[in-house]
Amino acid sequence: MVDKSFQTEILLELVFSVSHEKSERLILDKSLPLYLRKLNCFIAGVLKIEEESRIKELMIVPFAAGKTNDWDKVKTYFSSVSMEDGGKPTQFTYNSVYYYGLCLNGYGLLILGRKKPFTFLFLKELENVVHHLGKALIQSNEIEKRQLAEKNLIVSEQRLMKFLQESPSDIEVYDSRGLQVVVNKAYEEFWGIPSSKTLLNFNILKCEAIKGMELFKYVNKAYEGEAVSIEDYKFCPENNVSNVYEGVERWMSTRIYPLISQNDELTHIVVTHDDVTHRKEAEVKLREAKEKAEESDRLKTAFLSNMSHEIRTPMNGILGFAELLKQSTFDEEDRELSIELIEKSSARMLSIIDDLVNISKLESGQMELYISETNVNTQIQNVRNLLSDKIKSKNLELKIKSSLSNNDCFVKTDREKLYLVLRNLTENAIKYSKHGVIEIIVDKKEGFFKFSVKDEGIGIPLKKQSAIFDRFIQADIGDKRAFQGAGLGLAISKAFVEMLGGEIWIESKEGIGSKFYFTIPCNVDFKEKNLLKNSITN
Ligand code: ADP
Repeated sequence: MVDKSFQTEILLELVFSVSHEKSERLILDKSLPLYLRKLNCFIAGVLKIEEESRIKELMIVPFAAGKTNDWDKVKTYFSSVSMEDGGKPTQFTYNSVYYYGLCLNGYGLLILGRKKPFTFLFLKELENVVHHLGKALIQSNEIEKRQLAEKNLIVSEQRLMKFLQESPSDIEVYDSRGLQVVVNKAYEEFWGIPSSKTLLNFNILKCEAIKGMELFKYVNKAYEGEAVSIEDYKFCPENNVSNVYEGVERWMSTRIYPLISQNDELTHIVVTHDDVTHRKEAEVKLREAKEKAEESDRLKTAFLSNMSHEIRTPMNGILGFAELLKQSTFDEEDRELSIELIEKSSARMLSIIDDLVNISKLESGQMELYISETNVNTQIQNVRNLLSDKIKSKNLELKIKSSLSNNDCFVKTDREKLYLVLRNLTENAIKYSKHGVIEIIVDKKEGFFKFSVKDEGIGIPLKKQSAIFDRFIQADIGDKRAFQGAGLGLAISKAFVEMLGGEIWIESKEGIGSKFYFTIPCNVDFKEKNLLKNSITN
């Protein structure tokens, strides 16, 4: 039997202890065993009521080894007996030991085992203590739960903060008065301003620079509770809003939205900016590539239809005049005329076929260079000899102006290609001239032979000039058919000149005439410059 004053002391200490020890585990692991020892209990346990009313043994406090064999039976007994919260202790005697089960005020069950029974009065007092202890345990349990929830909240907040900080979008949070309260890393990179300068110093509603921008209208809308999205707009702050973007035009996407509390009050607004310039640029490039592909497709179709016309016309000429030749009514003059026309049509066919072969070789990179010592003056003379009849027949005049003496008219180059370029330019000059003089001029300057072929023909409109060296575009030029031609000559000439290490360009005025220039280097190491592998370029 515990002496009365001692009992009171225990109870006071227990009450005092539980009111300070707020943690459930501390109460159960540390305080409780001490007092149980003072109460001369040789065994004790707390059975906690878990959710769904399951009872879980939390702690056994065995003082005397070897005397706990009956614990399972005792526990089962008390778990099955219905006990009231704050009600009297339930007593159970087993193997001459007294066990008391006391309700821990909704928390669970405290079971005490003693060799001797408690006095009635002591049990009465113990009821209050246990009641109080249960309350404290429940309270500490709640505190623990709250702490856990707070800890979880902190973890989730940290996770959220990390996400916010690492987000590539600029994120800015402003409180209800417009004061900037949170910004992320992207904000600093975005605007080139350290957050330490703006955070809690910057008021979006009071910033004069922002007030002058359209953005301010949307900020106000967000403060009125409306979420606004401004997709892909051009952003170029003229004022001091940004160090980084000042005067630089960028593409932006912006979202501004309010944060509303549970009480329906606007607490903050969030502004997010995304610099979508790269995406926008990629879109533009994609669109351009698509347009180019469509254009190229259109030009190819036009080229093919032109090609079929260019092949059919001389073919019809050949077949038609061959048929006429069979007729015996033809006199000698008609006969010669027919043969001449067949020859001309065949030559035209051959030239088209040559052009096609050349262009396909250039396209596939199979065009080769044959370098040999070449007399530039001789090549010009050859062109004159070839085309003199044509020139005469059109009442044109051809002048050759060469400043090259017999000593400096030699160059190591691909003779055939040089000849073809000169021939093509002169043929064009004849083709596109109704009258006047055609001049082939050559001189040597700064390590280059500079050639030009000048005519007083129809000239080329400025807007078409950049296109004439491209291989499919000529076919698209409206006036083409009136003059015949596959539209490949200049594309081939350009590719040849570039293969030889030079450049080709044009000066022309519509109705006045054209002057085509091209250069070839006096000395060039074709292997070193990798020119042997050159192919046609657009
Ligand atoms: P083609 O003469 O067979 O049409 P080219 O590639 O030689 O093809 O020339 C391309 C286009 O450039 C011609 O269709 C013509 O419109 C224009 N052109 C070329 N040379 C001249 C020139 N000397 N005068 C006027 N236009 C020219």
